[in-house]
Amino acid sequence: MCGIVGYIGNKNCVPILINGLKRLEYRGYDSAGIGIILNNHSEVIKNKGKVSLLEEKIEKMNLQAALGIGHTRWATHGVPNEINAHPHYNKSKNLFVIHNGIIENYQILKTGLEKFGYEFVSQTDSEVLPHLIDSFLVKGHSLFKSVQLALAEVEGTYGIAVIYQGEPDKIVVARKGSPLVVGIGEQENFVASDVSAILAHTKQIVYLEDGEVVEVCKDRFTAKTIMDKEIEKEIHEITMSLDEINKGGYPHFMLKEIMEQSSSVCNSMRGRLLLNEGTSKLGGLENVIDQLVNSKRIIISACGTSWHAGLVGEYMFEQFARIPTEVEYASEFRYRNPIVNKDDTIFFISQSGETADTLAALREAKIRGALVLGICNVVGSSIARESLSGVYTHAGPEIGVASTKAFTSQLVVLALITLLIARKKDMSLVDGKSIAEEMQKIPDKISAILKLNDQIEKIASEFKDVKNFLYLGRGYNFPVALEGALKLKEISYIHAEGYPAAEMKHGPIALIDENMPVVFIAPKDSTYEKIISNIQEIKARKGRIIAIASESDDNIDKLVDYSIKIPDTIRMLMPILTVIPLQLLAYHIAVKKGLNVDQPRNLAKSVTVE
Ligand code: GLU
Repeated sequence: MCGIVGYIGNKNCVPILINGLKRLEYRGYDSAGIGIILNNHSEVIKNKGKVSLLEEKIEKMNLQAALGIGHTRWATHGVPNEINAHPHYNKSKNLFVIHNGIIENYQILKTGLEKFGYEFVSQTDSEVLPHLIDSFLVKGHSLFKSVQLALAEVEGTYGIAVIYQGEPDKIVVARKGSPLVVGIGEQENFVASDVSAILAHTKQIVYLEDGEVVEVCKDRFTAKTIMDKEIEKEIHEITMSLDEINKGGYPHFMLKEIMEQSSSVCNSMRGRLLLNEGTSKLGGLENVIDQLVNSKRIIISACGTSWHAGLVGEYMFEQFARIPTEVEYASEFRYRNPIVNKDDTIFFISQSGETADTLAALREAKIRGALVLGICNVVGSSIARESLSGVYTHAGPEIGVASTKAFTSQLVVLALITLLIARKKDMSLVDGKSIAEEMQKIPDKISAILKLNDQIEKIASEFKDVKNFLYLGRGYNFPVALEGALKLKEISYIHAEGYPAAEMKHGPIALIDENMPVVFIAPKDSTYEKIISNIQEIKARKGRIIAIASESDDNIDKLVDYSIKIPDTIRMLMPILTVIPLQLLAYHIAVKKGLNVDQPRNLAKSVTVE
């Protein structure tokens, strides 16, 4: 999920690696490290925190080497600290591996390797890689072959770069689900997870595809599949600017992050969904599962977008886990005198894990003796550390201030927790399986929705100059109405409100006239007929309507001005799909108004003040 850079040639690689890592800093990371190989000597230097700290440390050592790899880590397994930072290495410390992504089956691999005497020093999933590769090297295989054989056993996602003192003329790189490129130079070559790291040196780029392994020497490279099939790779000339590259070719981080959602949601589920058993496996909840399942009440406490995710969680927990659930703004929770019992479980949700109000509410809940669990995106963050246990969302770094992919990943995690509790209570295997199967289909459905981007952009042009917006939804889609309105407010500065659709007639309907656009979240579910009546009521008052509707719904087009048709899923998962067109709508309206969507005025990414 974070950054890789590597060099082989005739120059000193150290400044090249450090500058490359600095180019990758924009992605967000928590620690950094380099591994270099000199003739008869190898060295690994790493630390928690900034690349500049690493640079200071290295400067004092006066290192020179023509082969090296560097990494910025965005922790997924194990807190950010020096030991967990990459490169990871084998016992002899002559084989270095840097890894982006998640090794899903690392526990099984680790247990197997430990039986053969391999010792692990870090808490990461990544550390299995150097030991696994080593286990093939000691049998006499080449480095390239050992990497192929190791990867054949690995499940999950990776972009890796490997160097080995025994074969100091090469870097071996491989990719599956995590980007990797080779940069071609004169008597020197580069590797990187992101072109921006090496663009200062070359514009000649080879893009790796999933399942490919490449041996990069200073004057040549050869590519094969993991199964050893040879492949011809094309060299591309880069024409994009650095800024465009950092944003993955998108004009803004927010759009990049919206577009990433089929893979970020997939990462949130990776290795956690048990299809055959119709349940989930969440390592972070294993030690508290009995207490959680037997909770008399669940409270979800959060702020902003995470609070909206919490509302969806309330619907899920009550419907399937059958545990009374309340959702509280963290800022309210901490300043009133909430009733908290010993058999309550309180989930604290925060993307950054540093949200000041949420953290303070967590501390208050701890004092009162409840089971305190965290749902965070940033590994090792304060909320993650101070919770008794919890679940990481694994959405990857989110840079746009308006949260998008972190929200859909929070919903996925809440669904996984629901499945886990419900199956331990009275949900049948058949029901559990059908939910798990539907969850597995979500990434493809998100991809289908993202293809509607052009249609949504056109709709946005029609509404960019309005002053107010209303968002209406029912049931699971009521929190989505709130979230859609919040996204629009945050980045377009248009006043927007979300309501449960039926509440409309208790007040907001007074606002409706030909100037008031209303977004209805109206998939075909059990409240569809009621929503249609609400739509008629708005139409009768000349309001303009945008509907997020089911693909199969031909009826709705004659009732609304614009319809955005999306695939169906079961009700509890619908918010993961319905929110995406609303994110895109807010994004395009803000762009058309010429606003800075990635850094909207007055807002901070991580709200660390009260
Ligand atoms: N899963 C790995 C870790 O936690 C890699 C993280 C990354 O992609 O930066 O160390």
